Amino acid sequence: MNQKNLVERLLETNREGRKQMIIEEICRRGYTPKVQEFEAEGIIGYNVVAETGKGKKAVVSAHYDGDGGYDNLGGVAIALTLMEKPYDKPVAFLFSDLEETGQHGAKAYIQQEKDIANNVNIDGAGVGSEIVDVTDIKTLQFGDVEVRIRSDATAFAEKGIPAKHYATLPSAEAKQYRAGNIPMKTWSRVHNNDGVQGITSMAIKKAAENLYQIIRGE
Ligand SMILES: [Zn+2]
Repeated sequence: MNQKNLVERLLETNREGRKQMIIEEICRRGYTPKVQEFEAEGIIGYNVVAETGKGKKAVVSAHYDGDGGYDNLGGVAIALTLMEKPYDKPVAFLFSDLEETGQHGAKAYIQQEKDIANNVNIDGAGVGSEIVDVTDIKTLQFGDVEVRIRSDATAFAEKGIPAKHYATLPSAEAKQYRAGNIPMKTWSRVHNNDGVQGITSMAIKKAAENLYQIIRGE
């Protein structure tokens, strides 16, 4: 299955179906998945976690509870693609649940895990292959509407763990973003249950390649 098909199939199902698919995809990559159950606001959530190596680990996270391609099933596909690469240091892959309602999956993970070196969070990804660091963005202005930016990286940062929040953009919009302008075309897809349009296998592979360099350098 190519990366675009993976996002399409993730989009066709619900949280429970996605959890099962992620478990299967993790097994296919030679990892042993672990399901972490937690409760938040009366809802049961399920993180899916897999790791390689021993000791203080870099945690690569991508939430799977959003119903959109860009936010964040493209990000899930990128994290799964990253699992196909070799690592010479401890890395954990966290497919987090209930991010949209308050980063509950990430919070539950942090509470249960001790040996965390840092976090690389992928959220808002799969459209375009340029990686942009959105860690320092707190609010976005969409006309009169102000949107407060929070992601799983925020949950790590609040516990004093070095955390980065990465997104992807098509190169023209990445340029616009680096010049200080909101890349409206792509970012207006966030929380809009957008589909697979604009997502390509090539973009996901390239984005994973770019992130791989970042993770190895962390
Ligand atoms: Zn998201």
